[in-house]
Amino acid sequence: MPTPPISIPRELLPRDGRFGSGPSLVRPAAVEALASAATGYLGTSHRKAPVKLVVADVRAGLRELYGLPNGYEVALGIGGATLFWDAAVFGLIESRSQHLVCGEFSAKFAAVAANAPHLLDPVVREAPPGSAPTVDDGADDDTLALIHNETSTGVMMPVRRPAGGERLVVVDATSAAGAAPVDPLDFDAYYFSPQKAFASEGGLWLALLSPAAVERISRLREARWAPPTLDLAVAVENAAKDQTYNTPALATLFLLREQIRWMLDNGGLEWTSGRSTRSARHIYAWAERSEYAAPFVTDPALRSTTTVTVDVTDDIPVAEIGGVLRDHGVVDIEGYRKLGRNQLRIATFPSIDPEDVARLTACIDFVVAHR
Ligand SMILES: *Cc1c(COP(=O)(O)O)cnc(C)c1O
Repeated sequence: MPTPPISIPRELLPRDGRFGSGPSLVRPAAVEALASAATGYLGTSHRKAPVKLVVADVRAGLRELYGLPNGYEVALGIGGATLFWDAAVFGLIESRSQHLVCGEFSAKFAAVAANAPHLLDPVVREAPPGSAPTVDDGADDDTLALIHNETSTGVMMPVRRPAGGERLVVVDATSAAGAAPVDPLDFDAYYFSPQKAFASEGGLWLALLSPAAVERISRLREARWAPPTLDLAVAVENAAKDQTYNTPALATLFLLREQIRWMLDNGGLEWTSGRSTRSARHIYAWAERSEYAAPFVTDPALRSTTTVTVDVTDDIPVAEIGGVLRDHGVVDIEGYRKLGRNQLRIATFPSIDPEDVARLTACIDFVVAHR
């Protein structure tokens, strides 16, 4: 698609043009802190003090950020949230899982469970993109797989443990963690990758684990074999020593630690979620006023505060808007490709300045008015 020759006035442009949903904006101050620490940190052993101290800070920082009760553990490993799905079919799901599916990411975990030969067929509760499914309370699953924010559609669901039942509640929090409140008593595993609200790099998974999850992990390890890199018991044991089973990316850990500190220094999850909510509300209000845009998620209660999806009328291709903006250094606002809609998806993670979000919508209006 040819990009129309539109020049956006400089004073209209966001100061930082990164609005992607992951990898997402990494704060320049965190990169500078890494650069100044680099010679004593990068290229040093992950089994020795500087790196182990960073891992210890990450674990303690997450514990504080989430107010984790006694007995909860913070585990981590290599491979991101995608790997955590593979690990969960060995170490968390006992025989049958139930999955709430409403987009690409929740569907992928359900598919991993469905294809695992040692598990029974999962219960899959599916809702069309833009809406949210409900739990089947009567199902005989031992693990309920929820997603806090379905990044592919911009649907955010409250994390709530259903009453009764012995099931573990396992939550994909990748694009919500660090930016939305949650009560630790409502989950058993709350897992994420750090390249979204935690403004670090990909390649790592982190999981907040309840005592029941830790118990399930150690029991299943006795009951069946798992490849060591997918063995959550191995990850939990290493995490207790502030290590990972194999070598992590040290820069990723450092940037993550910087971001957790920044969140805590400013007031924790209440502050981060307030900032994300402010940005998101601005975009939804703008879309509702707009003649060419509308929020994709029709139920306001389900609208994400971290990944905002907005449909655009078909006569204005978002590829064109996105192309002009990209030429100005404003990037990654096109919707999730597989959803196949003429849609904008704008990340409103805490690192993204709400004022820049306001500038972004002004720029989009400018492009549409001048095409
Ligand atoms: C990004 C994302 C993932 C995948 O994360 P990786 O780090 O690429 O494995 C999984 N779930 C959700 C909700 C995501 O947003």
